[in-house]
Amino acid sequence: MKTFVATKNLGKLAEMREIFAGSALELDTYPLYADVEESADDYVGNARLKATALAAQLREAGIAAAVLADDSGLEVAALDGRPGIYSARYAGVATSWPDRREALLAELRDVEPDRRGGRFVCSMVLLLPDGRELDGFGTVAGRMVEEVRGRFGFGYDPLFVPDGDTRTFAEFPEAEKNRVSHRRRAADALLAILANA
Ligand code: IMP
Repeated sequence: MKTFVATKNLGKLAEMREIFAGSALELDTYPLYADVEESADDYVGNARLKATALAAQLREAGIAAAVLADDSGLEVAALDGRPGIYSARYAGVATSWPDRREALLAELRDVEPDRRGGRFVCSMVLLLPDGRELDGFGTVAGRMVEEVRGRFGFGYDPLFVPDGDTRTFAEFPEAEKNRVSHRRRAADALLAILANA
């Protein structure tokens, strides 16, 4: 099923392409998609805002296809779950990613090793051409490191070590991260629902 992805985040898009390769969804991007304001107060609400915005754009252009959107974030226990749904804007919208990562590390400077737990969270929303909405949710638990490590991935990957490993997500080859990530788990949940829809 031809499916347009509502994202301009190239790191995310690359992961979604690999995760959905060989699935029932054939992903594509709609170059005219403009990011919407993420004004909902939870992940699924924001994913729905992105998906419905792109679905409206496609309808106006006379294109019948499914739409996929995700909203994700990093939740740090010692920070009461921040940055959470504000992950993309943490420390300011205009802040560079290296500075955003350093700002988070600075907030965690005095946090002891056994209190550095966190998790990545992802909500996915699929809007089918007939208007039905299917949702998938996934998380991956881990801990926050003390210094950035690794050169793969994007966003907070260099700061996060998933449970059961010693490497940050930015030290995981892409295919390996895509086997265990929050995005993969949300996609698997969504595809299981789609198979029975
Ligand atoms: P949004 O889902 O577009 O609102 O963005 C969420 C933000 O959380 C992104 O800008 C990323 O920086 C961060 N994030 C979400 N998933 C990941 C991931 O897999 N690795 C690193 N950072 C992530």
